[in-house]
Amino acid sequence: MHSDSPDVAGGGPDPAVSIRGLVKRYGNKTAVDGLDLHVRAGTVTAVLGPNGAGKTTTMETCEGYRRPDEGTVRVLGLDPVADAARLRPRIGVMLQSGGVYSGARAGEMLRHMAKLHANPLDVDALIERLGLESCGRTTYRRLSGGQQQRLALALAVVGRPELVFLDEPTAGLDPQARHATWQLIRELRADGVTVVLSTHFMDEAESLSDDVVIVDAGRVVAQGDPETLCRGGAENTLRFTGRPGLDLGSLLKALPDGSQAAELTPGSYRIAGTVDPQLLATVTSWCAQHGVMPDGISVERHSLEDVFLELTGKELRR
Ligand code: ADP
Repeated sequence: MHSDSPDVAGGGPDPAVSIRGLVKRYGNKTAVDGLDLHVRAGTVTAVLGPNGAGKTTTMETCEGYRRPDEGTVRVLGLDPVADAARLRPRIGVMLQSGGVYSGARAGEMLRHMAKLHANPLDVDALIERLGLESCGRTTYRRLSGGQQQRLALALAVVGRPELVFLDEPTAGLDPQARHATWQLIRELRADGVTVVLSTHFMDEAESLSDDVVIVDAGRVVAQGDPETLCRGGAENTLRFTGRPGLDLGSLLKALPDGSQAAELTPGSYRIAGTVDPQLLATVTSWCAQHGVMPDGISVERHSLEDVFLELTGKELRR
């Protein structure tokens, strides 16, 4: 990931976010530990990681709320702390904690925020899009958790920013609000807005994002488009049916080291390992040599969740 080229992902403009060697400590605790990250302009990037991985700290550093202890952070080519006055109008931020004054009315807040920007979105349309029609005169503190989330999202995007940071935008939302949020994020992307979001929902990352970044213990442990990550990182499985009692020892000798083969029920076989075209060819050619017709041959792709758990482990984080 670390590279001298400013546009690591190749093609297109300079990265919207460029982080090199970011270190952030809280006392003795190293929350971010040499993190490198590049976000391509105009894309949706999902940042995944167990609790405490350093996602929020990283995003808050990009937003200018925290100063790096080491490393460099550039957002839209600017230093988020030194150039805050120039950067703030160009980015939208949805904090996990809301970050909204609790005594203000929802509608007023949105209109006020819209007025601070030169070319805001239509406030009424946004209110309708996010199902906030009934909340206009309600103060922030009296909104339900889901309404607060949606208002925070609306506040982040109403100024038509070039780049938005969304920290767990759909945490605690019901399915309807979740889908409305997804739709809004897709439209932002279609308008050329760069979106960086953190999430614990693998389906959200898979369906929304161009790039997924997996962070653990303050570092990036994997990055790529969801499809490539799922194909590359984890072991996959190949299944077929054939005559019961095949000599799996002989099959295993033909397969790469580390492969596994099992007869799950009579005549039903599962091969686990790095399932690539070569392995598929080896299995079918072994079957041909042994007069076996491999019926129902299928390759199971691992899910993003499999890859995530493989990289970050299964134990609970505290
Ligand atoms: P994530 O968003 O991935 O859950 P965070 O960036 O919130 O991770 O936290 C990373 C680590 O830093 C955690 O161990 C957390 O307890 C610690 N941390 C976060 N904020 C503070 C803070 N203000 N003071 C002390 N420790 C903090």
